[in-house]
Amino acid sequence: MTIAGKTDIGRVRRINQDAFLVLEDHGVQLAAVCDGMGGAAAGEVASSKAIEYLKSVFEDNPPTDLALSGLSDWLQAAIEKVNERLYGLALANEKYTGMGTTMVAALIHGRKIAMANVGDSRIYLLKEHLQQITTDHSLVQELIDQGRLTEAEARVHPQRSILTNVLAIQPHVVIDRFVIDEPIDRLLLASDGLHGYVDDETIETCLRATSSLDEVTQSLIDVANAKGGYDNTTVIAIDFRGNR
Ligand code: MG
Repeated sequence: MTIAGKTDIGRVRRINQDAFLVLEDHGVQLAAVCDGMGGAAAGEVASSKAIEYLKSVFEDNPPTDLALSGLSDWLQAAIEKVNERLYGLALANEKYTGMGTTMVAALIHGRKIAMANVGDSRIYLLKEHLQQITTDHSLVQELIDQGRLTEAEARVHPQRSILTNVLAIQPHVVIDRFVIDEPIDRLLLASDGLHGYVDDETIETCLRATSSLDEVTQSLIDVANAKGGYDNTTVIAIDFRGNR
């Protein structure tokens, strides 16, 4: 298995509020993408601290139960811990009031993959087709679920950046969990700088390319910037085909 991650400031923003992590310990891999929000530099703090805290949980208390349920439970507990620390940081510092961050994470052991989502960063799986694993925690996703908005309308909706669930805002956070235990080709973690501007067909074409994963991640960043680069873009691509 190979992993490559890349983040890019884009062509408009003056700071990069995205952050990402790729770690490995004793055959277990952890990958995560965060997209921060909040005034001044707070968004940048939220995402970078979320990654720092997740890293410290992984290093101090790595997963020991490597069954699929054990991986999933570890990931949930780790993100809850990250949220507690972020919430405490925001409470203790007035300049961080209101900061928040998304997080998508994948904890991998062989072909077993536990995933989690808070916010509107996404995880996609590539097998025969590209499949979106996560569901956005956003206002427009709620309107889609209620049948009041189409996917196409959501893409250009003026309130499409409003999130209904992020880390650091409340002492407890809702975490969506997903698991896979089957052979797949590739996994993609991405911030909305990618899927907010680039359609699924283009994402699939880039992710399916036989070039190196480093080139795959660069091509995803390049298509986001070709669409205007209005947001920071972060991607982590994971190839599982060597596992077979
Ligand atoms: Mg973003």
